[in-house]
Amino acid sequence: MAGQIKPGRSPKPPRRRARAAVTISGACLCGGIAIETDAPLFWAWHDHSEASRRAHGAAYATYVGRWKSKVRVVGGEGVLARFDDLKRRQVRSFRALCGTSMMFTRGGSPKWLDIPRALFGARTGREAKHHVAIEQLQDWAYLGAPLCPLKGYPGVSIEKVRKAKPARGGLFET
Ligand SMILES: [Zn+2]
Repeated sequence: MAGQIKPGRSPKPPRRRARAAVTISGACLCGGIAIETDAPLFWAWHDHSEASRRAHGAAYATYVGRWKSKVRVVGGEGVLARFDDLKRRQVRSFRALCGTSMMFTRGGSPKWLDIPRALFGARTGREAKHHVAIEQLQDWAYLGAPLCPLKGYPGVSIEKVRKAKPARGGLFET
């Protein structure tokens, strides 16, 4: 009959293809410690706090987060040194030989691992869109100002100096 629904299988909506986990590897500067985990990672953020700034010797540190149980140390676990920051209830693991920060745990979240994003050469599946302690952003941090090559110094760039526009129509103009 016209208008009657025919028996049989109703068309299923297309299944959303789940993103397959991809194993990504990270390593310290000298290559003595290697880690593996699966991307996409849970989240990523920039940490502007003084502790992370000093620990990394940088304007800020960028981390990606993962459950500790999902991160595998595949090389050099025995040479992973740690600093127990009792005052802040944080533990920072690093490679003493080359000084690379490797992992970071906070007292309130001992099963959670923050890993410096820079350890991974590959994409982590997570963009760093969050900021922690942004009120501590340093006025010497590079914020993406336009650059130009520094003459006579290959590989060195300098921020373009913006010339201030002369004021127009000031009250005290002569
Ligand atoms: Zn190293």
